[in-house]
Amino acid sequence: AAIYLLIATLIVASCQAHSTRGDAPFAASLPGDLVNSGKLRTDPNATVPASTDFGNITSAMPAAVLFPDSPTDIADLLRAAYAASPARAPLTVSFRGRGHSTMGQALAGGGVVVNMASMGGGGGGGGAARINVSEDGAYVDAGGEQTWIDVLHVATARGGVAPRSWTDYLHLTVGGTLSNAGVSGQTFRHGPQISNVLELDVITGHGETVTCSKAVNPDLFNAVLGGLGQFGVITRARIAVEPAPSRTRWLRLLYDDFAAFSSDQQRLIAASPRSHDAPATPWSYVEGSAYVSGSRGAAGLAASLANAGFLSDADVARLLALAAARNATALYSIEATVNYGGNYSTWTAAEVDVAVAKAIGEMRFEAGFVFTRDVAYEEFLDRVRGEEVALDKVGMWRVPHPWLNLFVPASRIADFDRGVFKGILQGAANIAGPLIIYPVNKSKWDPAMSAVTPDEEVFYVVSLLFSSVANDLDFLEAQNKKILRFCDLAGIGYKEYLAHYTIRGDWVRHFGANWDRFVQRKDKYDPKKLLSPGQDIFN
Ligand code: FAD
Repeated sequence: AAIYLLIATLIVASCQAHSTRGDAPFAASLPGDLVNSGKLRTDPNATVPASTDFGNITSAMPAAVLFPDSPTDIADLLRAAYAASPARAPLTVSFRGRGHSTMGQALAGGGVVVNMASMGGGGGGGGAARINVSEDGAYVDAGGEQTWIDVLHVATARGGVAPRSWTDYLHLTVGGTLSNAGVSGQTFRHGPQISNVLELDVITGHGETVTCSKAVNPDLFNAVLGGLGQFGVITRARIAVEPAPSRTRWLRLLYDDFAAFSSDQQRLIAASPRSHDAPATPWSYVEGSAYVSGSRGAAGLAASLANAGFLSDADVARLLALAAARNATALYSIEATVNYGGNYSTWTAAEVDVAVAKAIGEMRFEAGFVFTRDVAYEEFLDRVRGEEVALDKVGMWRVPHPWLNLFVPASRIADFDRGVFKGILQGAANIAGPLIIYPVNKSKWDPAMSAVTPDEEVFYVVSLLFSSVANDLDFLEAQNKKILRFCDLAGIGYKEYLAHYTIRGDWVRHFGANWDRFVQRKDKYDPKKLLSPGQDIFN
């Protein structure tokens, strides 16, 4: 009786939720064990937090939230959902890593949200129960719900190893970033995070648990990596690792000339390292940022470098004087690191000095504007956490985030600079949030996987991470549309990353030649279209 009462409640709840987001009514039986054990909850303390995300722009109320103890609970839910869902009214299920999406991608209006964090101890620095380092130190097995910061802690502490490819922010989940791609300054060298996975455990839309890799069930493996949660839930990922460095030499170089900035960036990512100790290029990480709107941009750059511990007061004054003298509309900064020490390389700090001096010798940054820090490896990797804490304190972390993430072909990046950094964004009254821009190599991406990239060997990751801090969400969203329209009109063959489209034709255009394959894989692994409805691809 309790189960039927719950189902009745869920149907009513889902019909109400249906009015905020277009999911079909929730008309399915749910596994009695999950209901009776209290793991499947419909109370507002469970559903309300699962109805929003980091973006703080959209919301969708789920009918229920599953708090699984283990992958078995998720498999039970998915099997029941598959069995009970009529073709045109699926009981949709999304997987909430930490809800760090910006446009509702982890939501399931009227469906069930799986709170992944409830497996493995909760994560976020306090969990890590489902992370294991292999005996030979060749890989780490991590639950899909685990955060990358926990993976880092366990891998370094127990095995003296560390993953090779990261995101800028580590309090994201393994399953969440692998469903997208996972990019950062290491991508040029090691590929995105999805290129650094050896094996997965996946529960498909049939509720079937499948182990897959390049050798076993490769189609599912390739589908899930970059698959936007459409083909199954990742419950375990085997992640390739390398010997863990102990230190990071961290550089920031200043430019007012975009051509010099971008060609230096491309030079940094050009030569592949031969080994840690005798690299052709020593760089472990290469990114960059733009600062726009003349003196406001220069002040922003100075503040950001000073806050990150790179600039003294005198350096700040020098930087501002340079920007004023040049009358610069935009400034740019390359950010690059060299990892060393620990199990990673035998280089000493003095040897790093020599390698870095040699490597930057022919670069065209503003003379005297190279700033350096030497920090613990983890301090560098977890650098965004400090910003989160600081912004949260002043109420600026939980604001709306109309982010625009693009992959732009290198051949058109100068056009993008002219049209966007020196064009559209010059008119912005207030820019809160970093404008990140760095090149990566397409050959480090695997075309068999679901993630899509532009048709050029070198393309740029451009992340315009706007925060709406002045009641200006409408303005910022309109500005994003203007940027996309500019790119479309200019014929820049970009791809959106972490995209959110609501029109099928936009998804077809996004996947291009890979669209048919994406649909075939959906029909194979989630034929009733139960999974990750918040991506708005099939629901
Ligand atoms: P969620 O947002 O909870 O989920 C995202 C999607 O994946 C949903 O569709 C969900 O259903 C699905 N999903 C979640 N878990 C699983 C799973 N185990 N199996 C299958 N599907 C699953 N991204 C980068 O690539 N590089 C960056 O440097 C970067 N920096 C960021 C910094 C910040 C501050 C934030 C907020 C985000 C950043 N991101 C970055 C974006 C990030 O990769 C996405 O938000 C991603 O979705 C991970 O967040 P999450 O783990 O909370 O997943």
